Amino acid sequence: MYETLGVSKTANQAEIKKAYRKLARQYHPDANPDNKEAEAKFKEISAAYDVLSDPEKRKQYDAGPQQFYGGGAGGFDASAFEEGLRRGGFSGAGGGTGFNIFDLFGGGGYGAQRPPASGADLTYVLNLSFDDALRGATTKISVDKDVTCPVCHGAGAAPGTAPATCPQCGGRGVISQNQGFFALSEPCPRCGGRGSIIETPCPRCGGAGQSRAVKKYTVKIPAGVKDGSKIRLKGKGQPSPQGGPAGDLYVKVQVAPSPLFHRRGDDLMINVPIKFTEAALGAKVEVPTSDVSISLKIPSGTQNGKTFRVKGKGAPRLNGSGKGDLLVKVNVVVPEKLSKEQAAALEKFAHLGSDNPRADLKAG
Ligand SMILES: [Zn+2]
Ligand SMILES: [Zn+2]
Repeated sequence: MYETLGVSKTANQAEIKKAYRKLARQYHPDANPDNKEAEAKFKEISAAYDVLSDPEKRKQYDAGPQQFYGGGAGGFDASAFEEGLRRGGFSGAGGGTGFNIFDLFGGGGYGAQRPPASGADLTYVLNLSFDDALRGATTKISVDKDVTCPVCHGAGAAPGTAPATCPQCGGRGVISQNQGFFALSEPCPRCGGRGSIIETPCPRCGGAGQSRAVKKYTVKIPAGVKDGSKIRLKGKGQPSPQGGPAGDLYVKVQVAPSPLFHRRGDDLMINVPIKFTEAALGAKVEVPTSDVSISLKIPSGTQNGKTFRVKGKGAPRLNGSGKGDLLVKVNVVVPEKLSKEQAAALEKFAHLGSDNPRADLKAG
């Protein structure tokens, strides 16, 4: 064990780790493809490290190889180790041996295992009139955004040239930094994680692969759209710097308030003033709706604040057919000034008598 790693019997953990690291690099199957000898050596080194890096196992081993290989609890299980090595070591999917070989070699295949990030989503605020929101609209919007450079098609390299493999990370996009025994992978600072560098930048985008442009999109606003709704234009957001899918563009609808209507879900509400004589005698009053005006029958004896529901004259329902309702709230208006004739007529009306509305208001 000690000889395998080339350390003394009194070597401390740091020395053992250091020795193992050095040998593991040297004999790792990735560095020695189809080399059976190196593979066997690598297994030997790994097995030795498995024992010597574990204080408990090391103690057992030091007590006597016989006892150790006797296969008691805590004994080294070569088959389990190899399984761990296959799963964790060579595939790079995670450590099975308490140490991830994968980290040693700077995480080969890092970029390939993660799909490239998609571009950022964008939000465009579209102001709509109240009427347009009810009717629906098809409108063109101009969005100032990043686009994939039309000259280099996102590669960043001048036409006719190609990006070169990054010399610092060898194209992996990550570099390993040794923190004591462990290796930490981080994006390569030279290439920013792309794995390639641009030697002759594209004259249009300067190597960024993207440029700024105003793009026009046609947006179909459904009839009845509500204030604050978002319409998603898939893939019309920012392009992905890594060649992944573009983000989405969200068109956020801001509906201007109406001087007439107030919206509650799919219903529209309107306040309609009526004369006190209309309330008393009954009348037909003209009421605006979202499209044409309608004639609303006010029955005689209508009280102030009464609400009438007119079916199907509200806002178009987004999730289906038909419309909500129009809620008409009447506001009985009492004239502030009366002509002599009007006053005389009302005096006459008063003397004709009527029910006392305050009949129930008796003190004590
Ligand atoms: Zn370009
Ligand atoms: Zn690099």
